[in-house]
Amino acid sequence: MDNSANISDLQSLITKMKSAVAPLRDILNGLHAKYSAVQEGAVATYIPELAKADPNWFAISIVSVDGQVVEVGNHQQLFSIQSVSKPFVFGMALEDHGREHVLTKVSVEPTGEAFNSIVLDERSNRPFNPLVNSGAIATADLVEGRDFPQRVTRLLEMFSRFAGRSVHIDNTVFLSERATGHRNRAMAHLMLNFGMVRDRVEETLELYFQQCSVLVNCHDLAVMGATLANGGVNPFTKERALKAEYVKDLLSIMLSCGMYDYAGEWAYRVGIPAKSGVSGGIVAVVPGKFGIGIFSPLLDPRGNSVRGVRVCQELSQRFGLHAFEAGFTGRTLQDELARK
Ligand code: GLU
Repeated sequence: MDNSANISDLQSLITKMKSAVAPLRDILNGLHAKYSAVQEGAVATYIPELAKADPNWFAISIVSVDGQVVEVGNHQQLFSIQSVSKPFVFGMALEDHGREHVLTKVSVEPTGEAFNSIVLDERSNRPFNPLVNSGAIATADLVEGRDFPQRVTRLLEMFSRFAGRSVHIDNTVFLSERATGHRNRAMAHLMLNFGMVRDRVEETLELYFQQCSVLVNCHDLAVMGATLANGGVNPFTKERALKAEYVKDLLSIMLSCGMYDYAGEWAYRVGIPAKSGVSGGIVAVVPGKFGIGIFSPLLDPRGNSVRGVRVCQELSQRFGLHAFEAGFTGRTLQDELARK
């Protein structure tokens, strides 16, 4: 059978798609070149394995809810997800227990404190929110399973559904986290004292260290963001990663608490739900439209990727991405994708 017509149709479709994303690729290449020159900040060293990161790694990925991908830089470079894992595990806790029970164990108030602060809410003894370490440990405690291996498996399956591929744990990072995680251990025991976590605290800490050690790349972060932007359904696999009713829970805490003690200024200046991690990753979500992944391990003193913050700030300003942007008259990101 002669299928040459089909092949040429396919080729013209691919050419069309390539030209459609070309203008946005040019924009991202421009941002990549501009911010590669920024050498401020430092790679995290408090976990020895993180200190091995190359300060020059830098990637930007954008994935739309209809599955278009535009990315530049080292977007395939793997790194441990660290705190970017936290909103996603919060989603699991919500699915396992429902909103009201989860709220009895972890609050949703921004702290203004550093991510590893040991302070709990004095009135309720709850950690302030699921995106600081204490709250993330309380959240990990809520991940169910008949035993520890099943809890880990469920965690990995959840991340895999978001990323649209099978993800794994970096054992060396995990061991490094575990060997140095005394402060996290102290928080977990303090919360055990107040009944905020159950009496399997060592196991829950192991789970927390494992969740921080999941290996992802910048492309994965953008796909995970696009899955949230798409109401919880992965745009490529079409698999549901999170119940639709909980998407807004994740996005609202990401907007108010996602960027460590820069969260307030981030909401003010950038206005996009996002979460950063100490390995230099940021996932950002433009609901209904895009997921954005950024990776650059040079961190500012609060723990956010220096280049990542600047790229998001510029994207937000240039394309009117702020959640409360009114009357934006410039070119939108969709315009750029659609341009021929
Ligand atoms: N594993 C890290 C810790 O608990 C997470 C840090 C982060 O990315 O904020 O110290």
